Amino acid sequence: MYPGAFAYHRAKSYSEAVSQLSELGEDAKFLAGGQSLIPLMKLRLSTPRHLDDLNFIPETSYIHGNGALRIGALTRHSQIAASPDAAQVPILRDCATGIADPQVRHMGTIGGSLAEADPTGDWAPVLLATGATVKTLGASGERSIDISEFILDAFHSALQHGELVTEIAVPLPNKRSGGAYIALKRCAPVYASASVAVQLALHDDDSCKDARIYLGVLGLTATRVPAAEEALQDRQIDAGLLQTVREAVMDTAEPTSDMRGSADYKREVAGTLAKLALQAAVRRARGEHVEVTHLYA
Ligand SMILES: Cc1cc2nc3c(=O)[nH]c(=O)nc-3n(C[C@H](O)[C@H](O)[C@H](O)COP(=O)(O)OP(=O)(O)OC[C@H]3O[C@@H](n4cnc5c(N)ncnc54)[C@H](O)[C@@H]3O)c2cc1C
Repeated sequence: MYPGAFAYHRAKSYSEAVSQLSELGEDAKFLAGGQSLIPLMKLRLSTPRHLDDLNFIPETSYIHGNGALRIGALTRHSQIAASPDAAQVPILRDCATGIADPQVRHMGTIGGSLAEADPTGDWAPVLLATGATVKTLGASGERSIDISEFILDAFHSALQHGELVTEIAVPLPNKRSGGAYIALKRCAPVYASASVAVQLALHDDDSCKDARIYLGVLGLTATRVPAAEEALQDRQIDAGLLQTVREAVMDTAEPTSDMRGSADYKREVAGTLAKLALQAAVRRARGEHVEVTHLYA
């Protein structure tokens, strides 16, 4: 189906985009990779009268790795997957390489994904696990928003109308830190059925110094698992503790039954993904090179 009629605008700078959107009013939207917005428009679930294209604004697509990792909002998933700077935080590569298929990864942007706040999107649990900060620009100026305060609900972020995501800052992990993100997907070009992101640090004796665990697609927003994090604190990660984490994840998950599987099935999947992600994160924290791929079933 064709989208409803709209006027096309092309911003030359972020500040011009912000003022254009406030002039055009509530019926206007930014356009980034178009990988969420255009399908919604074709289904007439979104009917903006104006689209303001961000793609021609210079220097919006970059990955800088000095001090903290800074990722421009218009950076494509495929650029993150291929970036040596982003590889300093391996959980980012796990995420970027597994989003949909090459076409979507070459068009879709990290800023657009966060702005969309789709509960089935992959970036939210990953960026929450890393403790990222989202930088924005709106009519009242710039803001730095902790990622945990950015995504408020399903399809609802802290962005005000006309406010842009401009950059995502990800802290570089300290020594003896590791993370991993694993999703279960029915096939490549679809969203995950369940996913788990783990980012942790180890003491010198390999016990867990701290851990952050988030679930994707298993609630209205990415869900933290404090019971698992507390269980890991200062403990050696052995088979018994892996089982404890698995159970905590299964207790916390709030999946719904849908075409991707029953709630019970997704809860089981979440427990298994948590064990796999935790094992990969520990090996990475010990300095091992571990390739992580999503599971397809
Ligand atoms: C077939 C298919 C499969 C997919 N599978 C997955 C998947 O497995 N995992 C996954 O995570 N995603 C998946 N996606 C979505 C993809 O990751 C998109 O890139 C993402 O959801 C939106 O990014 P975008 O750049 O395309 O944004 P757009 O579609 O251009 O915009 C989305 C929304 O964000 C707003 N917006 C865009 N950029 C900004 C900005 N910088 N500041 C403020 N607002 C902004 C727009 O106005 C719009 O409301 C899939 C998409 C398709 C088509």
